[in-house]
Amino acid sequence: MNQKIHQSDIESHPDFDGHEKVVSTQSDTLRAIIAVHNTRLGPGVGGCRMFPYPSHQDALADVLKLSRGMTYKSALAGLTMGGGKAVIIGDPSRDKTRDMLLAMGDFVESLQGRYITAEDSGTGVADIAVIRERTRYVPGLPEGEASHKDPSPVTALGVFVGITEAVKYRHDSDLRGIRVAIQGVGNVGFHLARMLVEAGAIVTVADINQKKVARAVAELGVTSLPIEDILTADVDLLSPCALGGAINIHNIDAIRAGIIAGAANNQLQSLATGRALLDRGLLYAPDYLVNAGGVIDIHYQRVGDYSEATVRDHVMQISGKLREIFKMSDREQKPTNEVADRMAEAVFIGERNAA
Ligand code: NAD
Repeated sequence: MNQKIHQSDIESHPDFDGHEKVVSTQSDTLRAIIAVHNTRLGPGVGGCRMFPYPSHQDALADVLKLSRGMTYKSALAGLTMGGGKAVIIGDPSRDKTRDMLLAMGDFVESLQGRYITAEDSGTGVADIAVIRERTRYVPGLPEGEASHKDPSPVTALGVFVGITEAVKYRHDSDLRGIRVAIQGVGNVGFHLARMLVEAGAIVTVADINQKKVARAVAELGVTSLPIEDILTADVDLLSPCALGGAINIHNIDAIRAGIIAGAANNQLQSLATGRALLDRGLLYAPDYLVNAGGVIDIHYQRVGDYSEATVRDHVMQISGKLREIFKMSDREQKPTNEVADRMAEAVFIGERNAA
C-alpha cells in the first residue's frame, strides 16, 4: 500500500466537515495522518490510533470521523478543548517500533500544540511515553504522580453511569437483574463488565480475542456468546465496546435489546441509523457523551487541577446530560444522536449558529 494523500482528496472527502487542518506523513519509519477538526474551545485533543488500514483512504475516513467526534465530545462534556485525532497506518502487534513512535512524537510536535495526543486502540500507555520523549503535547500528571495513566477505568465509569441512567429512564429500575450484552471486552469492556456484575446485572460478552473472553468468564463470572450472536442477543441492553460502525440499518431489525449504550466511538454507521433506532423504539445513549470519561481525565491533567474525586464528579454529570437528551428526544421525536449533536454545536459554534 503506497498511495499518498493529496490536499484535494482531503478537502473533497465526504467526512471533511470544515476540518481546520489535516496533515499526513509518509516515510519508511512512519505513515500517519493527524486531523484537527475544531479548536474554538481549545486545542484539538484526541487519541492516536494504530490500525492496519487497507488504504490511506480508509485511514483518512477514520481520522476525519474520529476527530470531528472529539470536538462534539469535549464540547458536550463542558471542557475547554477542541477535537483532533491521529492515526498510524500499521499493525500494532507487528509493525510498531520505537523509531516509529519517536517519529510520531516529532509529527505531533510539528503542529505546535494545535493537536494534543493520547492513547487509543492499538497504542497504550508505554507507547505514549515514547511519543512524549519528542513532544510536549501529551497530557500527563506532574512527575512523582502516576505520570501517564490508563484512561480506560474512568471511561468505563462514564459508560456505567450512562447505562445506569438509561435503565432508570426506560425501566424505572436499578441494574439488578438487567441483562447486558457487551461486544468487546478489551480495556474498557472488561472494567465495565466488572462494574455491571457488581451492580447485579447479568452480563454476557463476546470478543474476537478468545483470551479476553476467557479472562472475563474466569475473573468476573460472566457468560459468553459467539461474536456473531452478541448484537442480537436476547438481552435488555446492548453495549458496543469494540470498534465503530457496529449498529447499521441492516442489523437494527435483528437487535433484541431495548437500549444501546457502550464505549465504542461512532457506533452508528450513519445519521440515518439514529432515526431508524428511534422509529423502532430503541433507546440509544449517544456514544460520545457516555464515553467521555477518558477525555474528562485528560482535561484535568492539562489544567493542572487534578484529583480523582474531581474527575469522578465531572464524569457523574454524564447522567444528568443523558437524561436531558432522552427527554428532549421524546418530546421532539428527534433521534438522541441528533439531539446530542445540536447540544454540542450550541457549545462550540454558539446557540445562534447551531442548526
Ligand atoms: P481495546 O482495543 O482494548 O478493546 C476492544 C476490544 O474489542 C478488543 O478486545 C478486541 O479484540 C475486540 N473486538 C474488536 N472487534 C471485535 C468484534 N468484531 N467483535 C467482538 N470484539 C471485537 O479498546 P478499548 O480501549 O477497550 O476501547 C473500546 C472502544 O471504546 C473503542 O472503540 C475506543 O475507541 C472507545 N473508547 C475508548 C476509550 C478509552 O479510554 N480506552 C475512551 C473513549 C472511547
